[in-house]
Parts: sequence; C-alpha cells; structure tokens
Amino acid sequence: MRLILLGPPGAGKGTQAKRLEEAYGIAQISTGDMLRAEVKSGSELGREAKAIMERGELVPDAIVTAMLAKRVQQPDCARGFILDGFPRTVPQAESLDLMLREQKMELDHVIELKVDDAALVERIAGRFTCAKCGTGYHDRFKPTAAAGVCDVCGSTDFVRRADDKAETVGARLEAYHRQTAPLLPFYAAQGKLRQVDGMAGMDEVTRQLQAILGSPAGGI
Ligand code: ADP
Ligand code: ADP
Ligand code: ZN
Repeated sequence: MRLILLGPPGAGKGTQAKRLEEAYGIAQISTGDMLRAEVKSGSELGREAKAIMERGELVPDAIVTAMLAKRVQQPDCARGFILDGFPRTVPQAESLDLMLREQKMELDHVIELKVDDAALVERIAGRFTCAKCGTGYHDRFKPTAAAGVCDVCGSTDFVRRADDKAETVGARLEAYHRQTAPLLPFYAAQGKLRQVDGMAGMDEVTRQLQAILGSPAGGI
C-alpha cells in the first residue's frame, strides 16, 4: 500500500504516519525528518537546507525529489510507504507520478488531514520529541505520563524543533496555502483524494484513516 498524508504543519501527519507504519507494516517517509538528519550531520545538503527551514520556507524541489527517489528504493519500502510531508508542491507531485510510473508502482490513497489554522498554532507551539527514541509529545494534548520522563524509553532528554517557534509558524502556514494546497485539486482530478477530520482526537483520526485503508491484518 502506498499513500500520501497531506495537511498543513501540525495537522498530525507524523503522529498518524507512525501509527500506520506499525499497524500496516509499511515505511513512514518523512522528508522533514530526513532533512533534519542532514542538518544535524552537517552535510553540504544540510547546510543548504538549514537556513531555508528556519525561515519556514520550502527546500528546492530538485533537492527533495532526489532525496525521495533514493529513499523509496530502500528494502523497507517494498511493502509500501506512507509519504509524510512529500509532495509539497505541484512539481514534486509530478516528479512522484513519473517516478512511480517508471517503477510500475501505483499510488493507492491521498488523504488530507483537515485542520483549522487557528488550531495549528497551538499544536505546533506545544510539540516536543524524545531526544533518544523520537517519540512525539504535546504539552497539552499528549503529555508524558510522568513529568519530564519519556513513556517509551525513560529518557529525560527532550527536543523542540527550531522552526516550531511562533515567528516561523506564519511563514510555514503561508507556504502550505500557497504552494502545497494546490495539490488538493491535483489529486482530486486523479480521483485519489480523501479527507479525514484532523480536528478530532488522535484515536478518532486513526479510526477514520483505518476506515479508508481497510483493517490491517493484526488490528490497530
Ligand atoms: P511539518 O511536520 O510541520 O509539516 P516537516 O517536518 O514536514 O514539517 O518539514 C519541516 C521543513 O522541512 C519544512 O518547513 C520545509 O522547510 C522542509 N521540507 C520538508 N519536506 C519538504 C518538501 N517535500 N519540500 C520542500 N521542503 C520540505
Ligand atoms: P505534523 O507531522 O502534521 O506536523 P504532528 O503529528 O507532529 O504534525 O502533530 C503536531 C502536534 O500536535 C504534536 O505535538 C502532536 O502530539 C499533536 N497532535 C497530533 N494529532 C493531534 C490531534 N488529533 N489532536 C491534538 N493534538 C494532536
Ligand atoms: Zn524516548
């Protein structure tokens, strides 16, 4: 199964992609995570991307598309993948179509997580992640069970993204509406677009996704 989760920053793409990865045994591909790993490693690509990401703008299509083309050839993508944060522009979507056609692969679903802009600011401002195992949390919507301790690995080390500060969120939302929202009619024209209510609680969103995707073999 190959699917795209579309939605503005903070919509819950990463949260849901991780759940689907586990339930359906397909790979989550987050171009944002891949770019942050490049920034952390100090690679040439990372140095180029860092300033762009901190301004809340999009990294050039050619860079991201080349990165994705390599990623989908990895063995863990053989059973399928969930694209989280790609494509983000019409040229990226066109490259993806071409890439899939060349490899005789079909895209099964494109699902939009619909969330109001007003809710996104709070979602993004409260987001943090375990530095050790990467589990995602939220100050208000998904706090750790014990204050300051990761539920999954017990680490007390957490990180917040450099671009999750209030000053950058506006630019990221603008980039979404201007450059990414045109993908909605693009995929609607292909008859692939479905929508779920991203304003609902996390478990309810997972249920809505599962209703579209069908039950995984082992339950969710
Ligand atoms: P969010 O989870 O908030 O939607 P991401 O982690 O997907 O954000 O992306 C963070 C940043 O990485 C983006 O603001 C952008 O600068 C860059 N980025 C990620 N994916 C892409 C992409 N497909 N095209 C261009 N830039 C991207
Ligand atoms: P995206 O990958 O689309 O940028 P995330 O999955 O990182 O979004 O979610 C952004 C923040 O909002 C995280 O802190 C996450 O815990 C929280 N969150 C995700 N889904 C929901 C939801 N349905 N209701 C409330 N908070 C949510
Ligand atoms: Zn952890």
